[in-house]
Amino acid sequence: MASNGELPSKQKAAQFHPSDQSVHINEIPVPSIKPDELLVKVRAASLCHSDLMLFEPNDQGLNLGSGDPFTMGHEGCGTILEVGSEAKGFKKGDRVGWLPIIDCCFECDACQVHNLYCETGQSKVQGMTVDGYFQTYCAVKWQNAAIIPDGMDLDSSAPIFCAGATAFNSVEATRAELKGDPKDVYVAVIGCGGLGHLGIQYLKAYGYKVIGIDLSPEALEEAKAQGADYLFNPKEDKDYVKKILEITGKGCHAAINFTNSVPAYSSTPDVIRYNGVLMVTGIPQKPISFSGMDVSMLRIRVRGANNGRTDQLRNCLEFSHKHGIKPHVTQFKLEDFQKMLDTMHAGQHKGRMGVLFE
Ligand SMILES: [Zn+2]
Ligand SMILES: [Zn+2]
Repeated sequence: MASNGELPSKQKAAQFHPSDQSVHINEIPVPSIKPDELLVKVRAASLCHSDLMLFEPNDQGLNLGSGDPFTMGHEGCGTILEVGSEAKGFKKGDRVGWLPIIDCCFECDACQVHNLYCETGQSKVQGMTVDGYFQTYCAVKWQNAAIIPDGMDLDSSAPIFCAGATAFNSVEATRAELKGDPKDVYVAVIGCGGLGHLGIQYLKAYGYKVIGIDLSPEALEEAKAQGADYLFNPKEDKDYVKKILEITGKGCHAAINFTNSVPAYSSTPDVIRYNGVLMVTGIPQKPISFSGMDVSMLRIRVRGANNGRTDQLRNCLEFSHKHGIKPHVTQFKLEDFQKMLDTMHAGQHKGRMGVLFE
């Protein structure tokens, strides 16, 4: 903030330029808020694997990155500076995080499931089509925001608001399908990166036996640090399916796939027991396919989960605080955004990477 306590008029932002598919650190205006918005001073924003979709072709019906440059980032947290006149339940100084869909109605049947599919057809994703959070000041719809519990660390909380919420909702959706004492129930976590390292923490908080599967040694190290009971790298261990069947008896009771890899999805049923749960969470750029026989004969129960709604986000925050769930974040400066992006492209990171603002 400027020395007189007033907001500055300009700020730096990491912006995606659709014209050449590159990122620039630009100087842009500090936004002024609408009546249904909160002005937040961002403390931390983090990079999600889906941010890489901006740089790749996709056929999942997402229209990403056309038109003017916009600020990247859809995972952030910070402190409220101004509260719009229509916003309910927030005050200046509250520490908040939030979900990224705007221009939806928050009211229709579709919004009750996921507001990306709002019946108005107007939904936009901050950080994907309009300005996101790799900037110091941002406008947030009050309906998307949730207060961060007292005592929860703000600096490391940004990943909760996409990766954490998604991992939590996946674990909750999986749990709803499972019976028995968690200590006797095996859940495979496929993809132990940003989402997976949090998914493992949520599963362990419930007491499940966790089998971490990833092609990256760094991700498996992180999975181990977060308490995974068994670790497998299918690239290095051709017998991993056989070994998992030996450990679990009949196969895992559930497998949560956090990857964006079609081959990883194709091989997921191999580690699942009869009538086990296959939780579709990560979104590959290409369609995934399962055997109709496997689905119809209930060999696998295919379910889905995502970052969800604000009421689910509040549950996630409460649970995360109570159980000491903590994202592992490597912090970068905004100026080093490209370096952070390159590291994610190369898959050489553990947990999450993000920018910590002043
Ligand atoms: Zn995300
Ligand atoms: Zn709606």
